[in-house]
This record gives sequence, structure tokens and C-alpha cells, in this order.
Amino acid sequence: MQIESNQIVCPACGAEGLQSFPVFHHLICAYVGPAYDFELGTSGYSCPKCRRNIGPNDMTCEIVGTSARCDECRREMVVSP
Ligand SMILES: [Zn+2]
Ligand SMILES: [Zn+2]
Repeated sequence: MQIESNQIVCPACGAEGLQSFPVFHHLICAYVGPAYDFELGTSGYSCPKCRRNIGPNDMTCEIVGTSARCDECRREMVVSP
């Protein structure tokens, strides 16, 4: 499912309150996942796949897009760029 970046209503259930978040790509292990999959520790994020630490300006991690999640039905959708 894909939505526009200015959309605030869930296309699946009609509820308001979509949360948007960046999608990270960890270049070392090729893991792609939403920011909340990466555990936030004291010195940055930690990758859920390879468990490596990712610092604030880490070149091994890039943002590849934006996703949104509905608080009501927990569905996730891709936000079109
Ligand atoms: Zn919903
Ligand atoms: Zn990783």
C-alpha cells in the first residue's frame, strides 16, 4: 500500500493519526527496515540483523525512504517520495 506524504488518514481503516518514520538501509548487512526496528542505545542505533552499532553520522547506514504506520490497525504503508 502506498500513500502520499501529506496523507494523515489511514487508507485501510480510515483512522487519523498515521505515524511516519524513516526507513534505514544498513549497507554492511543489507538490512532494510523502519527506524523503530533499530534499537536506540546510548551511542546510536543498533542493527537488528547484525547487531552492529550505528553512530549518528555513520556512512554504513542510509535512509532509503519513508514509511507510515497506523495507530489503529497497525498496518504499514510506503510513503511516496
Ligand atoms: Zn488503519
Ligand atoms: Zn546490520
